Amino acid sequence: MDPALRASFLERLRRIFTAMDAAYGQAAAAYGFVCDGCEESCCRTRFHHHTLLEYLCLRQGFGELPAERQAQIRERAAAVVGQHARDLAAGTDTKPMCPLNEAGRCGLYAHRPMICRLHGVPHELQPPGRAPQLGPGCAEFHRRCGRAVYHPFDRTPLYAELARLESELQQVLGQRRKIRMTIAEMLLDDGVHA
Ligand code: SF4
Repeated sequence: MDPALRASFLERLRRIFTAMDAAYGQAAAAYGFVCDGCEESCCRTRFHHHTLLEYLCLRQGFGELPAERQAQIRERAAAVVGQHARDLAAGTDTKPMCPLNEAGRCGLYAHRPMICRLHGVPHELQPPGRAPQLGPGCAEFHRRCGRAVYHPFDRTPLYAELARLESELQQVLGQRRKIRMTIAEMLLDDGVHA
């Protein structure tokens, strides 16, 4: 992919991420919810990520890390992918930690994908032509703020903006690429999608 094209799309993605961070921050602040010291870290959830944009952003951050650190992270990513496969076969969910989480902190915080930015506080989605969907907060949120009155946090415009930019990127590239990858899979993918 042309580096200038990639840079321009990633710059636009960064603006969307900034809006997501602000929206999440506002919602969390309305409850006085601070995400720290959680024992069931959402970084153990097997989220799938669905855009080439998020993949490119994560890979950009990963590519800027020193080679030794990249090797360590890839080793952990391989272990996570293996564990997910064993879980799938056995019908279990042992929740291995995201390979980017180091001592409770995200090793690629500025490059983390959408769901890592929005997860945790109650939200709503307004799918066109369908009834609004309400999503709960995470377990820690409900332990700390479960009785609080819902503060409106509509993810719809944020999802829509990301979807629009993804569609524009795929059009420019002249193809439709379906993405469905965990963080660990993204880290082990050597440029197949780049
Ligand atoms: S990318 Fe970062 S925030 Fe997202 S699951 Fe991994 S460590 Fe957690």
